[in-house]
Amino acid sequence: MTTLLPGNIVYAGPITCTETHAYNSLGHYILEKYKSHGSQIVMIDAVTGQEYTAKYMYDSVVRMAYVLQHLGIKAGDVVGLSSENNVRFAITMYASFAINATVAPLNITYSEREVHHAINLSKPKVIFASKLTVNVIEKVAKNNSFVKSIVVLDTNSSNDKIMNFDDLMKSTKITSKDYFDTTPANKKDDVALIVCSSGTTGLPKGVQLTQYNILSTLDSQLEPTAIPMGEITLLTVIPWFHAFGCLTLITTTVLGTTLVYLPKFEEHLFLGAIEKYRVLMAFMVPPLMVFLAKHPLVDKYDLSSLMVLLCGAAPLSKETQDLITERIGVPIIRQGYGLSESTLSLLVQNDGACKPGSVGSIKLGIYGKVIDTETGRALGPNQRGELCFKGDCIMKGYIGDTKSTQSMIIDGWLHTGDIGYFDDDFEFFIVDRIKELIKYKGFQVPPAEIEALLLTNKKIKDAAVIGKPDEESGELPLAFVVKQPNTELSEDEVIKFVAEHASPAKRLRGGVIFVNDIPKNPSGKILRRELREMLKNRRSKL
Ligand code: AMP
Repeated sequence: MTTLLPGNIVYAGPITCTETHAYNSLGHYILEKYKSHGSQIVMIDAVTGQEYTAKYMYDSVVRMAYVLQHLGIKAGDVVGLSSENNVRFAITMYASFAINATVAPLNITYSEREVHHAINLSKPKVIFASKLTVNVIEKVAKNNSFVKSIVVLDTNSSNDKIMNFDDLMKSTKITSKDYFDTTPANKKDDVALIVCSSGTTGLPKGVQLTQYNILSTLDSQLEPTAIPMGEITLLTVIPWFHAFGCLTLITTTVLGTTLVYLPKFEEHLFLGAIEKYRVLMAFMVPPLMVFLAKHPLVDKYDLSSLMVLLCGAAPLSKETQDLITERIGVPIIRQGYGLSESTLSLLVQNDGACKPGSVGSIKLGIYGKVIDTETGRALGPNQRGELCFKGDCIMKGYIGDTKSTQSMIIDGWLHTGDIGYFDDDFEFFIVDRIKELIKYKGFQVPPAEIEALLLTNKKIKDAAVIGKPDEESGELPLAFVVKQPNTELSEDEVIKFVAEHASPAKRLRGGVIFVNDIPKNPSGKILRRELREMLKNRRSKL
């Protein structure tokens, strides 16, 4: 039962599951899980239809662990991973865990400049890349001598600089294909993952997650209060290089479910995979939810197997949720809220905590509070402030950036930069990011709220709102709008629509700009800095 501890701290009690404690490392735990799931199909590639059993995964992870050792990778070394979702991504990651190495997943959409920045944070000795990213990786690696080898995951080509996955798997001598001797890790200190923070406001930082951060998160996922997973088919298209995608991948591995994965979002593939594999549950981000709510193609597929949608990474509006319920009747739609810096979710909706617009209640083992942004004082129910959390899932820190770590984690409390509140039932609500709030004549205007409203308009396919600098008022809300195809829609109509449905401060006094699409990062967050740039460029041209 959730209670309010002295100092307005919300707490639901300790994690009671201790399953992971028996294992000497994260890699040990994952290998033993694969062993126990035997001939069960644990992964399906939705593009090729190829199915993979737990036994196949176990053998491949063991073999790859020997390959990594052969490449000179030792405990504490970093393995870079730059690939779209692919079974070999999982094999390489788990093999790295098996030798207590650290995995640094790289965003596949990164430019050379961004890859350069990211690998200079994590300093990988070897980088595994897909054919999509290998050219960029090769170019950047040339100027960074700490990268000793590059392995391409999904082609047979190789040259004197680049090895390929298949050759290495075939040619490396292994001691035993049934056994890999994992060595005990220092779980609280050894870093398993360095994920890049989302970088919506600046260059990404390297979030270090320890083996213990991940193991304790897994224990909390195995709690009986979590949604029962059993032997079910799940679907994911969330990129595994992002914390949400990566941690849900690890969770499904441990649970022994069948995970149908897509390397990237494609409308027919996504809907067709749900129909073909009778997918019961899908991991979602808000743009995918908007797709399910609004896209005409959705009606052409049988999605009746879908029972649960789990959505996270960015705000999901009640309006979109309602549209999906109306349209496909998915019985359970649950939101989760978390940050890369908190391993996975901190707050989740469940049967007892799923009020419209809420992100649910606090997970076991986590302490939460809402602080006044001016005074730092912890606030009581229904008062808005910055959300802060403490618990075993909070990152070790940003790699090589003590200053940012110290401003983000103060006395063990992670300061999220998100504005929200909890109500009398300890359900949490996110209002917006501190930095993203628009200040109109001193009023705080949350862009997420206007975006949600705009999406209820049938003529609008997508929308994003930012503040347009204004001398008199500070900022004026301005909307970027994507029209539905073949639709007539004027700026005036959009402005009127918002004025009719929202309070005066939220009116689109900054105007409306029609665009072809809204720039978003792969986890579905709107890239507001790109929109601000766009606005600046337009204004300087006028
Ligand atoms: P990332 O580290 O990329 O996962 O980004 C974390 C940020 O995503 C949080 O600080 C929130 O601003 C946002 N976020 C994640 N989940 C939600 C959610 N369910 N509702 C609103 N914002 C969310």
